[in-house]
Amino acid sequence: MRLDIHQVKLPLRRVFAISRGAITEQESVIVELHDQGRVGLGEAVKSSYYRHDAATISSSLERIVPELADYEFTTPEALWNHFAPLLDDNYFALSALDQAAHDLYGKLNSSSVYQRNGLSWRNVPQSSVTISIGPMDEVLREVESYADWPILKVKLGTPNDLEIVEALRQNTDAMLRVDANCAWTVVETIRNSITLAELGVEFIEQPLPADAPVQSKRVVFEESALPIIADESCQREHHVRECDGLFHGINVKLCKCGGLTPAFRMLREANVRGLKTMAGCMIESDVAISAAAQLVPLLDYADLDGAFLLASQPADGVKLNQGNFTRPEGYGCGVTWDASLV
Ligand SMILES: [Mg+2]
Repeated sequence: MRLDIHQVKLPLRRVFAISRGAITEQESVIVELHDQGRVGLGEAVKSSYYRHDAATISSSLERIVPELADYEFTTPEALWNHFAPLLDDNYFALSALDQAAHDLYGKLNSSSVYQRNGLSWRNVPQSSVTISIGPMDEVLREVESYADWPILKVKLGTPNDLEIVEALRQNTDAMLRVDANCAWTVVETIRNSITLAELGVEFIEQPLPADAPVQSKRVVFEESALPIIADESCQREHHVRECDGLFHGINVKLCKCGGLTPAFRMLREANVRGLKTMAGCMIESDVAISAAAQLVPLLDYADLDGAFLLASQPADGVKLNQGNFTRPEGYGCGVTWDASLV
């Protein structure tokens, strides 16, 4: 097999800010996995929180190129098992490789990833679109521009979180979800949950820091007026079990867990445990979004607007129209890209 690694800069439509910082463009690594005349695509992007950028992702992947050259491809799951231990615990790199393996397998075997995993594209949830942190007038302008979207996910973790949601509620009838990105205390979370519930918010994502004491998570879980979804607290497979009893649901992201292979298992385990299922994304191109979209039939909540937030991108795949996913077309993850555009 041959792995080609491309570092790409993805320009955003507008500044994107959360409680930890702001960006205007995204560093991405798009990989092409070649075998038997076909190509699978995968992607991972920079994340300051998870301490990965294009250089760390690329250098981990470059180290496995010689091993891949002699590797005989059977299934994406076998490839994941073989290469996960060789990637220095760099699950962002592993995710890009695993997405490419799933895409490639589908192209070699004339199947789509979701169908191969026993899923059908029926009654799939709609995706939220993300409202980032900013001055109130900008936030309201952003909300106005998403008038046709049925679900808004609002980034919080500011000194005036409740004012923001109250102002939004006066300007939209859309379903609101909020993401505090680890910025709240136990007391703030419980107090905010009561007001947010009155404002018709559906759930709160990751109010406490990922390393908050178990007892703090348990108090929030038991006393919050709204369901609590784990994002930063649910990264890899073993976290699903750890979140059971401390969260009402989990937000799976390919880059956190190391790709589609573990993501399918995590969502199925969450279903068995009675946890709500969600898949999220980073700001990334149609390559990673089309891979994550394969999980959508397993979800209660989808938050896969990453490519929608870009001004331009070199890939073409699963799209969102006012929150509605287009059905993945073609084999694998249903994505193509044009390397000449980067
Ligand atoms: Mg989040």
